[in-house]
Amino acid sequence: MKLARFLKDGLRKFGIVEGEDIIEIEGSIFSNFQKTSITHKLNSVKLLAPCEPSKIVAIGLNYKAHAAEFNKPLPEEPMLFMKPSTAVIRTGDEIIYPHHMSRRVDYEGELGVVVGKRAHMIRKEDAKDYILGYTCFNDVTARDLQGKDIQYTRAKGFDTFAPIGPWIETNLNPLDVRIETYLNGEKKQDTSTKDMIFDVYHLLSFVSHVMTLIPGDVIATGTPSGVGKMKPGDKVEIKIEGIGSLVNTIRN
Ligand code: MG
Repeated sequence: MKLARFLKDGLRKFGIVEGEDIIEIEGSIFSNFQKTSITHKLNSVKLLAPCEPSKIVAIGLNYKAHAAEFNKPLPEEPMLFMKPSTAVIRTGDEIIYPHHMSRRVDYEGELGVVVGKRAHMIRKEDAKDYILGYTCFNDVTARDLQGKDIQYTRAKGFDTFAPIGPWIETNLNPLDVRIETYLNGEKKQDTSTKDMIFDVYHLLSFVSHVMTLIPGDVIATGTPSGVGKMKPGDKVEIKIEGIGSLVNTIRN
C-alpha cells in the first residue's frame, strides 16, 4: 500500500495511491484509517513530503563500496548524524544550492525508513513492528563542508537538503531492494540494499537505544557507491524498486 500526503484545493490530506488514482483516507496513517469514497487523479493533486519528521537520523558509511570510494575503514557500529526537519522538501521541489558557503553539493540516494510507532530500546527482532513503511530519500550533502567541518551538521543541514517521497510503501522487503540514482537521466548509483553493512532492522534497534523515535521520524539508511556532484539546472531522481521515484531539480 502506498500512503501519500497531498494538497488538494488548498487542503492537506492523506490518501492511498492506486495506479493513476489517489483515494482519500480519514483517520491517522499511524493508527486507524479508512478509505473514503473520494478519489482524485494522481496528476490533479500536489504530493507533499509523505511525513513530517520531528528528526531525521541518517547513517554514514553503510555500504562497503561507498566506504571504499572515500578510503574510509568499515564502521564497527552504525555512524549516526542528524538532518533538521526544516531541510525536508517534497518530490518536485527544488534543491537550493548554498553558493554562499559551498562549492560542491552531492546527491546521495538512500532508502528512507518511516517510523510508525514510538520506539525506545527496541530489539532487532521486533524492529519491523515499529516501521510504517519505506520511501526514497536524497541525503543532499555539501561535500566540501563535510570534509572541512568535524561535525556534519552544516554539510547536511541546509534548507532543501532532505528530499523525501514520493510516498510511503508499507509492503516492502527492505533487505533486498534495488536503489538507483539518475542525474539528468544518466544512471549514477545502482545497488541492492542487501549490500548494507547494518540492515534496516539493526539500524532501527540501534538508533532506538540512543533516542526515542516517534511516528513520522525518518531513518536515512546510508548511500551506496557512486555519489557525485550536482549543479544548478540538474535533475536528480532517486528510484527504489517497489516504491517509485523522488525527483528534484537544483537551482541557484
Ligand atoms: Mg548519506
